Order: sequence, then structure tokens, then C-alpha cells
Amino acid sequence: MKYVFVSDVHANIESLQTALARLDAEDALVSLGDVVGYGPNPNECVALLRERCRHAILGNHDLAAVENFGVEHFNPAARAAIEWTQGRLDETSRSWLDALPYELRLPDFLLVHGAPVDYFEYILDKATAASAFERTDARVVFVGHTHIAEYWSRDAEGTIGHKHMQQGGELKLEEGKRYIIDVGSVGQPRDLNPLACVVEYEPDSRVVRWIRYQYPIEEVQRKMRQAGLPAYLIDRLSVGR
Ligand code: ZN
Repeated sequence: MKYVFVSDVHANIESLQTALARLDAEDALVSLGDVVGYGPNPNECVALLRERCRHAILGNHDLAAVENFGVEHFNPAARAAIEWTQGRLDETSRSWLDALPYELRLPDFLLVHGAPVDYFEYILDKATAASAFERTDARVVFVGHTHIAEYWSRDAEGTIGHKHMQQGGELKLEEGKRYIIDVGSVGQPRDLNPLACVVEYEPDSRVVRWIRYQYPIEEVQRKMRQAGLPAYLIDRLSVGR
């Protein structure tokens, strides 16, 4: 059995379907938030995750779509996309998103969208990673939010380590270290690699694996154009930034 983590799907059904094709029947699917916003298929993505997820938590775009939270801090393109999403979300999607928790603590790890306690903080450097480690005693924390595939580690002396997973890769969790695993984005990668990212974790071997994969980007872009979503959001999918 393995866990499969998806985050920041952002209403990109083509990429989500491609990611889920990897799942075996006994795998546990986990969603780390931002199911909607930016992309053209919010209801379809919610429906698929509602049916398949074992665990799911709330992202800032989900909260913005449901109750307009934080929209004043969004850039104009993100705000236009959230307004479009609000007009499209059906009642079933809305109530599923509305019921998602900010965090989930499982025996093995903690799930939050951005960071422990300050749920929508961006962990972007060693200082924010160090402060995030201090706010939890979880050995392993899985996050999304930055759309950057990477991880942060903290050893017994408090030294922070970091590695980008822009091309995918593996990490074997070591005894005596703690980890923040950023699973990257299914729907809108921003680490200068347009390939989407999904993460697998095998509890038995304690191996975490970032997998970068292709999906039909042009099809998503065609639908976004048809929906009248901002060109900036359409173009960035091709370059992964
Ligand atoms: Zn996001």
C-alpha cells in the first residue's frame, strides 16, 4: 500500500485524471487543497476527488471560492478566475469544499496546505521552513501551496536541509530527521517545469517519490480560452511558472 498525494489541482481535470491513472486499488489518495481556482473544470475535479480521496484538506483558493476569503490579496488574474469559479461551482462541490478541515493529523504525518498553524503561509526559504518545524512536533509534514516540488529537512541539531525536485526524484526518510515534503502542483506547476507533479509515499520502505508527468496541456488551454479565463493563466501552463 502507498499514499498518493495531489495538491493544487486548480480545476485541471486532464492533469488530475492522468495522475489518478497511476493509482492501484489499495492506494490511499490524499488531496492537500486548492482543488479549484485558475482552471476550467472545478466541479469535475471536486467530483473525482470526493469519490476517490481517503483524506482531503482545505486550500486558500477553495476557501476563496466558497466564502470569498482573502480575495483582496489575490492578483487580478487569480481574482478573475475565482469570480468565474464562484459562478460555476454547484451546490455539491460547494458543500464538499466547505466541509474540508484546515489540517489532518495522522499517526505518521501531518497534512496542511501551506504550513503548520499558519495554514496559508508559503514555505519558500530556510527561515520559513525552520519556523514551520517549530510549530509542530510531527516528524513528517506534507504540504502544497507553493506549486514547487521540493523538501525541507531538519536534523537533531536543528540544521535545515533543502532540495528541489524539479525533475522528480526520491527521498528515503532517515531516522532522527524531520521533513516538510512539498508535493508540487497537479494543475499549475511553477518550478520552471511544465510537467505536473504527484508524490507517492510508501510507509513500509519510508520512501517518498516525486513523479513529473505529461498531460494534455493544449486541451486545458483551449477550454480556458473558451471560458474566457485570463491569458496570463493560460500561458503559464506551457512554461511552468
Ligand atoms: Zn495553489
